[in-house]
Order: sequence, then C-alpha cells, then structure tokens
Amino acid sequence: MPNTATVPSGWVAGAAAPGSGPDHVVVNPATDEALATLTLASPADVDAAVAAASDAQREWGGATPAERSEVLAALADALDAESESLAAEETAHTGKAIRLAREFDVPGSVDNVRFFAGAARHLEGKASAEYSGDHTSSIRREPVGVIGSITPWNYPLQMAVWKVLPALAAGCAVVLKPAELTPLTTLTLARLATRAGVPDGVLNVVVGTGAQAGAAIAGHAGVDMVTFTGSTPVGRMVMAQAARNGTRVQLELGGKAPFVVFDDADLDAAIAGAVAASLINGGQDCTAATRAIVAADLYDDFVAGVAELMSGVTVGDPTDPATDLGSLISRAHRDKVAGMVERARADGARIVVGGVVPEGRGAFYPPTLVADVAESSEIYRDEVFGPVLTVSSFTDDDDAIRRANDTVYGLAASAWTRDVYRAQRASREIRAGCVWINDHIPIISEMPHGGVGASGFGKDMSMYSLEEYLSVKHVMSDITGVVDKEWHRTVFATPGRAVR
Ligand code: NAD
Repeated sequence: MPNTATVPSGWVAGAAAPGSGPDHVVVNPATDEALATLTLASPADVDAAVAAASDAQREWGGATPAERSEVLAALADALDAESESLAAEETAHTGKAIRLAREFDVPGSVDNVRFFAGAARHLEGKASAEYSGDHTSSIRREPVGVIGSITPWNYPLQMAVWKVLPALAAGCAVVLKPAELTPLTTLTLARLATRAGVPDGVLNVVVGTGAQAGAAIAGHAGVDMVTFTGSTPVGRMVMAQAARNGTRVQLELGGKAPFVVFDDADLDAAIAGAVAASLINGGQDCTAATRAIVAADLYDDFVAGVAELMSGVTVGDPTDPATDLGSLISRAHRDKVAGMVERARADGARIVVGGVVPEGRGAFYPPTLVADVAESSEIYRDEVFGPVLTVSSFTDDDDAIRRANDTVYGLAASAWTRDVYRAQRASREIRAGCVWINDHIPIISEMPHGGVGASGFGKDMSMYSLEEYLSVKHVMSDITGVVDKEWHRTVFATPGRAVR
C-alpha cells in the first residue's frame, strides 16, 4: 500500500496546499476502499496557484538551458529511486495491474523526464541571415509563460509527465489539475520535483473537480496556454472556456483506433497484437485497438483466435504480479462500458467472449469480444474505453481503408500485412496521428503523440511537444545605420525629408 499519509491535497509554491473546497475521498476501484481524503481546490485556490506560477516563471524562463536540464535530470533520478512506491500508488488509485504500472507507467515516465532533461539543451532557432539585405533577422524561442494543464485518470503519472516536462524544459511554469479520481502520483511528482530542485512555484498541482478547478484553469486570464488531455466533449468545453481570453490551446482527446488485418497478415501476430492492444490498461487507453477490421478470408480464424486468447486472461487483484487485467477506474465507468456492450447485444452483435459483469467488490469487467458489429452501431462508432474489441470484415483494400477512416477520431491505427505496398498505402491513407505497421501500442519519448479530427491537435512527447510550449519571436536589426530608408518612400513623398 502506498503511504498516502504523506500526500497533501495540493502542491503550490513548493509546499503542501490544502484546497479550500469540500472533502474528497480517493477510492481504490479494485477494493472499493478509501485510500485518502483530500480537500478539493476551489477557483480561489487556482488563482493562488496561477499567481505562484506567474511569480516563478520569469526566473525559471531566464535560467540557462543547462541549469534547467540539471534540475530535470535530478527529477528523473528521484522518480527512478521511488519507482516501486510510485507503481504501487498508481495501481492503488487506478486499479490497473501492477505489472503494467511497474513495466510501463513508471519507467515510461522516468524515460520521458530524462528525454526532456536533454531536450532542454536543444532549443535552437533557424540561422540568422540578412533576408532583406539591410537587416539581420534572427529567431528567439521564448517560453509561452504560465501553462494550465488538465489531465485524465487513465495514466495519471504519464499524462502529468507528458504535460509538465516539455513545459518546464521550455522555461514555462505549470499549474496542473489531475483527475480527482487519481491525484496521488501527480502530487508525488510535484513533491519530488521540489526535492529535486525545481524552484518553488514552477510546478503547482491543484486537485479539484473539472467543473470547479478545471474550468477555473481553462478560463483563467493569467494562464498563457491551456493543455488538456481527456475526452472530446470536455476538450471542446475547455477550448470554449479558453477562447474567452484568446488563450492558446493544445488538445489530446479521445480515440477509436482501427486495427486492420489484411489477408496476407501473420495471423498469429495479429491475434496476439489485437488482444494485447485492446486490453492494455483495461482498454482505458486512447490509442487502444478498438475496431478490428479483418479481411473476410481470415475473419472466422481471427475471431476464434482472439476469443481463445482473451478467455485465458487473468482478471483480478491488481497488486498480484500474476494478474493480467485489474479493475476499471470506477463502478460508474464499468456501468457505462457494460451498457454499451448490452446495447450492442440488443442491436444484433455477437458477444463471443465476456460481456458479463462479475459479482463482488471492485469495478472489474472481463475481456470482451463483440463480433458482427454494424457500422452504424454505437459500439462501433463511440469510444467505449474498456476491455472491449469489436470485429467486422472487409472485402478489398479500398473497403479496408474506407472503414478505418469511417470515424470522427484520428489518434492511432494499425495495419497488419506482409506486403510492403499495402503497408505504405495504409500508412499514407489512414487518417491518424500514428499508424503502426504489424504492431499496435508502443510509444517512445523521441516520437510525437497526438491526433487529428475529433482526437484534437498538437503533440505530446518528442521535440514536437517542446515546440508547443515555445513562442517564436522574430528579431530584425538594421545593419546600415541609414536614416532616410528606402521604405520611408511609402510615407514621405520627398526623399531626404526626414533627414535633419
Ligand atoms: P474527461 O474529459 O472526463 O476529464 C479529463 C480532465 O478534464 C479531468 O481532469 C477532469 O476533471 C477535467 N474536466 C472535466 N470537466 C471539465 C471542465 N468543464 N473544464 C475543465 N476541465 C474539466 O476524461 P477522462 O474520463 O478523465 O479520461 C478519459 C478520456 O481521455 C478518454 O476520452 C480518452 O480517450 C482521453 N485520453 C486521451 C489521450 C490522448 O493523448 N489523446 C490520452 C489519455 C486519455
């Protein structure tokens, strides 16, 4: 069990900052037991955090890249040293299997911090040059300023790291609101950041509800950019709130990833990939494989293979390293997932495996395979965000690509084929921020993550995300010393009129 006694309600200006709102109980969704009681942040607490960030940003933004890099590298070491307790804490408030937390959430987060510690020293502009002939033009890349970040509950530590690290590397200060269901590891991140030498006020965490603290951040006049990861409807509300002040926005939203299996694919690899990629994090992953679109010739074998593999998955105590699948985030979310599967069943889809809510405590839901789904059905079109894979078949390559793109979302996709031309076509024509070939899920700090369409815009991870937190300034310096400049003819009709 994590030591929640040391976790404060918020972290502002380098110190614990209890919110002034109502009490909130953080629950372990696998056991239904209380983990911690926090006081939620009110809009006034958000004001205090934004003020702290604003005070701290000027000095942090003025630090040398080497100075920022050193502090961020120390944070990576601090997180690494706490790996085991961080993994336990992540599992406790999310219900995810401990193996996933140990082998993916925490090491992935540490690696991302290390990447941005290095990236902090790679802020570059384009070459300075005399484009006009009589001026030298140069580019300055300056921190955007105070960043308001809002994160979801599915990968709390990784989502916080993806938002905070590029911002800090760029010289920004952050006010971060985690989902109130899963605030613990974000608070630990902030505490460790202070211990590692991140100056007070550079990273602030407020734990509050979306309607209160989230809305206050999104609509705050003192916030220079709002970066949001979460659902598409809430992301659009955040964008509307930010628009009131004309605030810059980055949105990482929902997904409905297609998983396209061509008739020349390695069927065993595709089956293993589909089960792993649909069940990772209980399917509560915005890039999870959700729509298997399979060549008609392979359809029956694919359904049988996925069903067999899914049936062998161990669902249960997330703290047991032998467990494959822990609980979902909450009973309310489990009810939403179960409701969508029930409506699919009523709609005529075939529930091949799973689809039954287990008795007993915890928000558990079994791996579920839904075959023969109609293209118009809710389960095929809307985000389920649970351990549910749908399967449908296609007739030819044009049909496969059409089906893959038949969604408002565009976050991630995969194509399974041994034909290089098919692979190239799929990577060109599928509309998504990421297309995997013969795999589905791996991410890497050096490469960007972010979607198109209803999946949002802008990038997390990689040097592309560093760009999100920088403003480009053009500096243009006269190199002639001439008083009566040629372009002054547009104002003064007579040459030499301005020369005294
Ligand atoms: P959510 O949209 O309900 O909440 C996300 C965050 O927004 C939370 O912190 C919440 O408190 C806050 N919020 C809610 N209402 C708000 C408001 N009016 N103003 C400001 N903030 C508000 O999402 P969730 O249920 O926490 O997470 C699941 C969603 O996140 C899924 O749709 C998933 O696809 C998406 N997601 C996307 C990515 C990505 O990189 N694209 C990554 C992870 C999760």
